[in-house]
Amino acid sequence: MHQSNNCQQFSELITGYLDGELTQQDSQRVSLHLQSCETCKSSFEELQAMQKLIKQSKYQNMDESQLEHIVNDLTSKKLELISWVAIVSGFVFVLVLAGYEFWIDTSLSGFEKFTVGLLIAGGVGLFLSVLRQRLKNRKNDKYKGVKL
Ligand SMILES: [Zn+2]
Repeated sequence: MHQSNNCQQFSELITGYLDGELTQQDSQRVSLHLQSCETCKSSFEELQAMQKLIKQSKYQNMDESQLEHIVNDLTSKKLELISWVAIVSGFVFVLVLAGYEFWIDTSLSGFEKFTVGLLIAGGVGLFLSVLRQRLKNRKNDKYKGVKL
């Protein structure tokens, strides 16, 4: 009977013990009781696991808001620049690769190589003109922004 009452008293203290809200004396009493009582020890471990889960979900929320902050921090201009760099470097890489494959292919005649070369040059020219137009528009936007 006495043991049971004792445990009830401790079960109320355990939450405070987990949160570190107890006085040193109380927390020592809980700690000693947990060492000697299986029932309270298991309920303490359950509470501890639960608290760990809650803390983990808190951290997850923090990570999400941090990620959101980073994404928001990337202004559209930065994103645009990154996109252009990605496109240009991808384009250049494909071009170099295609050019290499093309020039080492001995089954093609000089005329065929010339034709494909023209096509590639035309493609590059078109791409550069689009890029130039794009940059020009951006300058105009900047100018408009200053005017306002
Ligand atoms: Zn107990």
